[in-house]
This record gives sequence, C-alpha cells and structure tokens, in this order.
Amino acid sequence: MPYTSHGHWYGPGTPTLPTPQYRARCGGTRMCPVCSREAGPISRPKAEAPAPAARIEYACRFTAWTNTDGIEKQVVKYDFTGTGDPGLSEARRMVADTRVWQPRQNLPVDAVVVSRPVPEWTIVNDEEN
Ligand SMILES: [Zn+2]
Repeated sequence: MPYTSHGHWYGPGTPTLPTPQYRARCGGTRMCPVCSREAGPISRPKAEAPAPAARIEYACRFTAWTNTDGIEKQVVKYDFTGTGDPGLSEARRMVADTRVWQPRQNLPVDAVVVSRPVPEWTIVNDEEN
C-alpha cells in the first residue's frame, strides 16, 4: 500500500483500495515534507531544489586608498557581508555608508553590491598509493 502516513498516494499507477480513512490536508507529496520524504525521490519534483537565496553570497565592492611604501594608490576592495537575505541587507547598508565617505576622501563614488553563487562542497579523494 504505497500511501504516506498522512494518507496520500505516491504510486506508481492508480491508487489501490482500500484508501486510508485518514488523509491530512497537508498538500501531499508535492507540498508536505513528511509526505515528500516518505514517497522518496520518484515523485519528488526536481524543481524543489535547495532555496537559491541561501546559496548566494554578497559583498560591497568599492574603491579605496591604500598606502604601500609611502605611495598612495587606489585599489578595488571587496568587503564580504554574508550569504542570503541577511548578506544582501548588510551589503546594501555598507554601500550606502561607503558612498558617503568616498567623496570626502577624494575617491570615485563607486560602491556597489556584488553577488556570486556559492558552489557545492566537493569530496576530495586523497588516495594513498
Ligand atoms: Zn503530508
């Protein structure tokens, strides 16, 4: 009887009888994490991958002065602010602050929020010979 403990059919084929007496209004195998887990990978929609927002990291990119060997030089810096929505909020705040002090230091007002996707971790096979 391939029904989840919430009473939702997850196939294959057409539902067998008898149908469960109890059936939760949880959204079934497409919406409910319990039903989805019990149904396994077969009926899980591929579109429901990890939330993309948590896998983007943000930074504030800006031009600043640096002093090496007594020579003032302008360099592009990246201040990493975090991942997901908190990282984006912090990057926006930092850009606003930076755009205030850049003209005071005779710098171009060029602070912007930049982002990039965070790649998955990969297992390194350290094979001994
Ligand atoms: Zn359920």
